[in-house]
Order: sequence, then structure tokens, then C-alpha cells
Amino acid sequence: MVGASLAGLLAARVLAPHFREVVLVERDRLPEAPAFRAGVPQSRHVHLLLVRGARVLEALLPGVLGALRAAGAVDVEWPRDLLWLGASGWSLRWSGGLRLVSCRRELLEWVVRRRVLALPPVRAVQGVDAVGLLPGRGGVAGVRLRARPAGARSELAADLVVDASGRGSPAPAWLQALGYAPPRETVVDSLLGYASGAFAPPAAFAPDWRLLVLQARPPATTRAGVLLPVEGGHWLATLVGVGGDYPPTDAGAFLAFARTLRSPLLYEWLLLARPLTPVAGYRRTENRLRHYDALRRWYRPGLLLIGDAAHTMSPVGAVGITVALQDAAVAANVLGPRLRGGRLGLADLAAVQRRREGPVRLVQAYQRLLQGWMLGTRRGVAARRVPLGFRVQARVPLLRALAAQILGLGGWPVRLRAAPPPGLPAGRPPRPGPAPAAVEEGPDAFG
Ligand SMILES: Cc1cc2nc3c(=O)[nH]c(=O)nc-3n(C[C@H](O)[C@H](O)[C@H](O)COP(=O)(O)OP(=O)(O)OC[C@H]3O[C@@H](n4cnc5c(N)ncnc54)[C@H](O)[C@@H]3O)c2cc1C
Repeated sequence: MVGASLAGLLAARVLAPHFREVVLVERDRLPEAPAFRAGVPQSRHVHLLLVRGARVLEALLPGVLGALRAAGAVDVEWPRDLLWLGASGWSLRWSGGLRLVSCRRELLEWVVRRRVLALPPVRAVQGVDAVGLLPGRGGVAGVRLRARPAGARSELAADLVVDASGRGSPAPAWLQALGYAPPRETVVDSLLGYASGAFAPPAAFAPDWRLLVLQARPPATTRAGVLLPVEGGHWLATLVGVGGDYPPTDAGAFLAFARTLRSPLLYEWLLLARPLTPVAGYRRTENRLRHYDALRRWYRPGLLLIGDAAHTMSPVGAVGITVALQDAAVAANVLGPRLRGGRLGLADLAAVQRRREGPVRLVQAYQRLLQGWMLGTRRGVAARRVPLGFRVQARVPLLRALAAQILGLGGWPVRLRAAPPPGLPAGRPPRPGPAPAAVEEGPDAFG
């Protein structure tokens, strides 16, 4: 597993019952507590775990949502606790029956990490970069490693390599080094910028909402802001600007930016709040879809990509984690039965990607639409008008309510067919399996 963030951890969870050893190769040293680390720079900014992602997470790691609450995560009843000024106006608030668990991304990852690393066959190799793929058996037979910072090199042989190394995944270059053409990429970058800081709410804070979202509405403004309740009774405040209109990281200028949003609410609450951290910025938010499916010779025994490594998600819609967790669930549904039988073929790996391509493209198409609208407005070249869908929504409150429900759910549903058993005890011998065959020969297997 290259990368020990959410996609890598959940993939490790899915594969643990079937392999003698599951090794998470991670370039960072993994902190003992919920804390920032350089490999996940986006974690300083608002991260919502939407309902469908939370359902998959709980199915794969029963009790994990309870553990998050016990660690201070806040329950948000959606959309009753949500104050959302969307493109079509304020959303209706009612008891829609959806419940989100709100916390910092660092806490989410730490709780998940502790549970996954406790599975017997799973171990993490930390402070090590994966720098290439080992060829062999007609495909990929492991990864090349380089320790940080000294640079000592080593190799790790593996029956299956999963690249979960996020948006900076070097897999295209690795495949090229093995003689395969890299995949074509579709990239949409709306020069979206984030700036975030943690705050202690004022003592008098007792409104009837918990989460505040002020969305952009071009052409009037392409700026947005979020106030998220997180552990410790704190807020995480994130400001967003599009088309290079990056929110500043200087504390005073941050507040001034908040003042320009469509509603003064966020600014006014921040004025009363106490800053707990410096403001941090983030600007790498492009959408990147790698068309691995279009490469006839890409599927090689021994390599699977999931999460942002396969399809880098823009922050728009807050679905990246949900999509990454759903990748792991589909891997469990498709690969689990085959692995139980001791056989895993190229067709199985291809099936995982095939099942994920459609939903991912749909979500990314929606993200592109929104980003294009905002970017066009900033450049003064297009989208001077609010799209028809939002104008209709503005007149029909029920449609706004529906939009909030869809946003909270987080895209396409994915169900885990059966919860995989916990991992195998370490040291159990691998199942015997047939030798791998070359990809050109059609459906082949490796055990
Ligand atoms: C500003 C911002 C806000 C966002 N907000 C939300 C949100 O509200 N809700 C949501 O669902 N999604 C959100 N997303 C998207 C979300 O962050 C990603 O989709 C998600 O983190 C993908 O998880 P991942 O495990 O695939 O990759 P990552 O979380 O990026 O993890 C990659 C891991 O791989 C490691 N790594 C990288 N290269 C190597 C290497 N060569 N060797 C070893 N280790 C390596 C890294 O250190 C890291 O641990 C947001 C994204 C951004 C940029």
C-alpha cells in the first residue's frame, strides 16, 4: 500500500483478511496523536465526511463513528443544524434524518489509523518514499523504496501493489519507466484557493445551528466560507476564492476577506471568536482524472490505484474522502470473493476501476460545471448569469431542500456486500495460487 492516508488505510482493511502481510509504505512519520503531517497538506482545511462515506467507514470498521464521537467529534443533524446559503438562497432546515460526524481531518485519520494498524497483518513502514515499481511476472512485483532523509534504497516484493499516494501520485512516471505509455489526463484547474484557521467560539455562542456554509454566487461573488464545528468545542473556519482570488493568510486580511462574503454572519462570529492557530493557505485544488481505462496494456498483474491517486478530486462538494472510501468498499465487494477463493485476476482489478469510473466522472463533471461557472465569471468571459437550475431552485424551496439532502449524502450510493472479517494473524502462510500469466494472454491470475 503506497500511502497511509484514508484510501490506503481502508484498502489495507479490505485486504488484511486475505494476505499474510499488508505493508503501508508512508513517506511521513505517522504522529501518535491527531496532528498535522506534511504528506496531507489539505488536512488543515475544512473536511466533511459525508453520509455515504461515513456509512462505508462504519461498515468496514464497526464502531469507528462512536470512537470519533468519544474523541470529541460533533454530531451534525443534516440539514437541521446546517445554515447554508447556497447559490439559490438559504436552504430549508428540517430533520432530514441524516447525521454527520464533524471533526478535523487529522482526528478522522488518526482514529481510522489506530484501528487499521491494530489488525494483525497490517504494519506501517514510515519515513520512506515509494520511488518506483519492481517489474516481474509480466507486471508489477513490488515497489522500490528510498528512506528519508538519508536516501538508503531498498526493495519490497509484493503480490499486489495498491497506489493510494494521493493527488501527487507518481504512478504515471513509474509505468512509463516500465515501458508502458502513461495514461491520458483530464485536468480542470479553477485556481481555487483555501485559507483556514481554528477558533474558540465566544462564550455566548448558543445559536440553533452548528455548521455554517456561505457559498459563492457568481457573478456577484466567487468567494465562499465555512465554519465547521470540530473537537474541543472549536471551530475550523475556511475561506475560499476562485480564479486566483486566493484568500490571505494574514490574520487581519483573513477577517477582511470574510467580510466580503454574501452574508456577514461568518465575519461577525469570527470577530467575537479567539484565534487558536495561525491561518494556513492551500492552492493545489485541481481536478485530475487519469484515464487508465483507455490504455489497452495498462492492466498488469499486481497494481491497483485508488483514491486521489486514481482520480484526484477537487474540494468542490466535499466528496473526495467519500469517493476514496467507496473505492475501498468496491475493492472489498469485487476482490473479496476472488481472494477467498485464492485467485485474483487482471479482470478483477479492471472490474474495480470500471465500477468506479462512472460515479467518479459524474461527480467530477458536476465539480467542473461549478468551477467553470465561477472561473468564467472571474475572467469576465462567460457565465454572467446564474445557471437555470439555481434560478429554478431559488423559486422552489423544496428543490433547495432536495439539494441540501443530496449534498449531505455525498454522491452515488455504494454498499458493502459483506463486512470483511478482521485480518489474518501475522505469519499465516499465503494461500497457494497459480503463477501469474502475461497480460496479453487474457484473464490471468496471481495468488
Ligand atoms: C483544500 C481541500 C479541501 C478538501 N475538503 C474535502 C472535504 O470536505 N471532504 C472530502 O471528502 N474531501 C475533501 N477534499 C478531498 C480529500 O482531501 C481527498 O480526496 C482525500 O484526502 C484523498 O485521500 P487519499 O488517501 O487518496 O490521499 P491523501 O489523503 O492525499 O493521502 C496520500 C498519502 O500518500 C502519502 N504519499 C504520497 N506519495 C508517497 C510516496 N511516493 N511514498 C510513500 N507515501 C506517499 C502521503 O504522505 C499521504 O499520506 C479536500 C481537498 C482539498 C485539497
